[in-house]
Amino acid sequence: MNKPNGFATRAIHAGQEPDPATGATITPIYATSTFTQEAPGVHKGYEYSRTGNPTRAALEACLAALEGGEYCLAFASGSAANAAVAHLLSPGDHVVAAAEVYGGTYRLFTEVFGHWGIGTTYVKGLEPADFAAALTDRTRLVWLESPTNPLLNLVDIAAVAKIAHEAGALVAVDNTFATPYLQNPLALGADLVVHSATKYLNGHSDAIGGAIVTSDPGLYRELKFLQNAEGATLSPFDSWLILRGVKTLAARMEIHQANAAKVAAFLEGHPAVSRVLYPGLPSHPGHDTARRQMRGWGGMVSFYLKNEAGAEQFFRGLRLFAVAESLGGVESLACQPCTMTHASYPETMRRELGITPGLVRLSVGLEDGEDLLEALDRALE
Ligand SMILES: *Cc1c(COP(=O)(O)O)cnc(C)c1O
Repeated sequence: MNKPNGFATRAIHAGQEPDPATGATITPIYATSTFTQEAPGVHKGYEYSRTGNPTRAALEACLAALEGGEYCLAFASGSAANAAVAHLLSPGDHVVAAAEVYGGTYRLFTEVFGHWGIGTTYVKGLEPADFAAALTDRTRLVWLESPTNPLLNLVDIAAVAKIAHEAGALVAVDNTFATPYLQNPLALGADLVVHSATKYLNGHSDAIGGAIVTSDPGLYRELKFLQNAEGATLSPFDSWLILRGVKTLAARMEIHQANAAKVAAFLEGHPAVSRVLYPGLPSHPGHDTARRQMRGWGGMVSFYLKNEAGAEQFFRGLRLFAVAESLGGVESLACQPCTMTHASYPETMRRELGITPGLVRLSVGLEDGEDLLEALDRALE
């Protein structure tokens, strides 16, 4: 058997054979809603673009190959992908989720699916025993992020997956922060991997998209049905943009992490900073778990300002880092999770978790590392 291709090779070639009609080297944007059939039901595999589109199919094949999964489905956003996973459930089912999930994921489970009779328990400790204690005989889904958002804590995915499976629950992992370059949750026992492709996969902050990857044919069939029935599919143009972005994922992640490591080390030694959260720092509580299940530390760095009251001044004085939601683009971004990405969390929950006004989350971009350190140093004065 041939040795499987490496990650960068898959990112550039998987699902991206020359166009069968013209030989175009780059997958074309198939901007068409419908496909002409030879006779009713006699066609080349495509009928209508909500159901299937060749540009989207190329991206789906590529992302499946990157996650080491059999199947992928691309959605109009990460949130739409999350909603499709939630639609696998029925009223009366129960979900266990890590307390530190993306704010929009919390909002979706609490404020949308909560009203449809699906209860969610948020686990505050992230140890496998904390998840085990939250499982009930109605739990059908365990939802994880690792590293978590915005505190960058680690969850032992293999250990939690084992406990969840013993209880008969599915395991979904939001792999947006780590990317398939650094972590493959399916290999750690997850049933489903979800992505906001808006972030590192696309990498250029110019498209919104999402994806689900699985190797389970039954789950794929159900999700494919939901994707078509609910219709939140990724457009051909956005599929093409994200496919173009994915080609450089390996190269980008190397620079993201190199810059993030520099930023984390710099902040850890800065007198205006009380604590730095970065899985690559030996001081980080999840450092060993990250070493076991990831191939690197990623490009996100969070930290606490010593002077919480000076947070606004810090953001106003920050050059180069745009104060913005989102992450994973070539340009560096800074956000205040408590007022931005995690504003949909209740205030008491934010306080308990440590999502306070002094917490800053950085998406470290691909600029020159020295310039980023200088910008942070000036804003911290
Ligand atoms: C952004 C994000 C989402 C939501 O994705 P959209 O593409 O914005 O809908 C979900 N999970 C994580 C970790 C995210 O960062």
